[in-house]
Amino acid sequence: MIPIAKPMIGDEEKKAVLAVLESGMIVQGQKVKELEEKFAAFCGVKHAIAVSNGTAALHVALKALNIGPGDEVITSPFTFVASANSILMAGATPVFADIDEKTFNLSPAAVEKKITKKTKAILTVDLYGLPADYTALGAIAKKHQLKLIADACQSVGAELNGKKTGSLADITAFSLYATKNIMCGEGGMITTNDDAAADFAKKFRHHGQHQQYSYEFLGYNYRMTDIAAAIALCQLQRIGKITEQRRKNAAQLTASLNGIVRIPFIPPASTHAFHQYTIITEQRDSLRNYLKTKEIDSRIFYPKPLHLEPHFAYLGCKRGDFPIAEKACETVLSLPVHPLVTEKELKYIAEKVREFHGM
Ligand SMILES: *Cc1c(COP(=O)(O)O)cnc(C)c1O
Repeated sequence: MIPIAKPMIGDEEKKAVLAVLESGMIVQGQKVKELEEKFAAFCGVKHAIAVSNGTAALHVALKALNIGPGDEVITSPFTFVASANSILMAGATPVFADIDEKTFNLSPAAVEKKITKKTKAILTVDLYGLPADYTALGAIAKKHQLKLIADACQSVGAELNGKKTGSLADITAFSLYATKNIMCGEGGMITTNDDAAADFAKKFRHHGQHQQYSYEFLGYNYRMTDIAAAIALCQLQRIGKITEQRRKNAAQLTASLNGIVRIPFIPPASTHAFHQYTIITEQRDSLRNYLKTKEIDSRIFYPKPLHLEPHFAYLGCKRGDFPIAEKACETVLSLPVHPLVTEKELKYIAEKVREFHGM
């Protein structure tokens, strides 16, 4: 089976982990600090704060901007559940807005219609690795005095107008989960230029401690270990190559599939990190089954929009409320695009997709 994702673990990672174990200093320490400095430099921001996972990073991001009970946060229903769960974790209310048909990201026009007196922030998602429309969303946020929070868990290395994700919103959350473009098993990062938010994040990840055994507010244990940071440092060092290979793989698929299925759209001002290569086809489920018989793994990200999940039912949304997101859930299919898929395998994948469509 050609897998949909496969972590790249080389000798460097193994050596780096061993060195941390041998040093005897395995919790948050020197490696975490080094990772934070290099990650901030990579994104072009003042601060990066490492945490235990991407969901924690989103939770910290919301809390650092003082979002809590009574506040509404507008977000996409077409994303991984963690995006909206983090809003619940902060005690705020998620308000869904529909997505743009071409990019799969939040539609700025749909967002503006959802703004009320209680709206405090927009939490946008860079789905599949494509930056959201930060230009339009940033203008809306400014006009209505809202905070712009980015879920960039899938888009590390992508750019908008030459600026990297992580530098495009007031605060950004990244994930270093095993299947993400760069990973350390489980891990997360927060990036921001806001000194106060960065200071809050550093306390919040460690029980709200502001000096040893003195606690300013309720925080959590969201620390990253030096073992994880050592792996992430190796991955960050290779991010240029990783992203380049994903883009090359995507271009190869696009060259064979254009006109057969709907291929990923890349707005002219953006570069895509191709966390996923996602096509649209009306015969999605039968194509997926066909590919399975040909030993090709494909996945549906995501089969159900969040507004139809039971734990968001209290919001009172129903089928038909976000037609573009709902349609996407029925027609999207992600094909293997990760750096370990070979040119020959990509050719085979494209051939089988064409064959299924009678081409
Ligand atoms: C992976 C992911 C997350 C959560 O990250 P974890 O590290 O698994 O907690 C959040 N949002 C999106 C869009 C993701 O893809």
